[in-house]
Amino acid sequence: MAIHRVGVIGAGTMGNGIAHVFARSGFDVLLCDVEQRFLDRGLETITKNLDREVTKNKITADDKNSALKRITSVVDRGKLAEADLVVEAATEKFAIKADIFRDLDRILRPEVILASNTSSISITKLGALTNRPEKVIGMHFFNPVPLMKLVEVIRGIATSDGTYARVKEISEKLGKVPVECN
Ligand code: NAD
Repeated sequence: MAIHRVGVIGAGTMGNGIAHVFARSGFDVLLCDVEQRFLDRGLETITKNLDREVTKNKITADDKNSALKRITSVVDRGKLAEADLVVEAATEKFAIKADIFRDLDRILRPEVILASNTSSISITKLGALTNRPEKVIGMHFFNPVPLMKLVEVIRGIATSDGTYARVKEISEKLGKVPVECN
């Protein structure tokens, strides 16, 4: 399955950076947060950071506008049903992530990979909340996401080699350097 549309959960520090790099790399992004004002703030940050890239001649004004057009903000998590990959970057609390993982497992097509940007929660534990633990993986970006090249790819006990290979390939498409971690 080709990955065109990426869901990003959380429009905070990490989520808006993750949405930024996916959109700048040509992916359509569904950016999801619990309230419209958090999405508006995230989009403001993305716009400001893309403007900075234009000023530094890293991208053109057209690239910036195209990237922004690729991002759709959604409060309704159900809209992520169309996503081909989801990266979760919500608040670092197990109860919040557990609710998101259980719900996304119900919403997403069975073949869709579910990645978490968590810094401290077990990927094995998150995977065990779903019926697709082989498709659950850690994709740990660093702040500020548009600038930091490293992405730690973290496998849970059940994460498949296919999922790992796919996430490594996508990280490279984002211009990042993926490194496998346990
Ligand atoms: P943040 O507080 O800036 O943003 C979190 C966002 O998640 C908020 O906008 C919040 O409204 C949203 N959110 C909460 N519950 C949600 C839900 N149910 N659905 C959708 N959105 C929801 O936090 P952050 O710093 O961006 O961290 C996000 C994740 O990234 C955490 O897991 C954290 O451990 C990880 N992380 C953070 C850093 C960092 O330097 N900040 C670095 C690497 C990884």
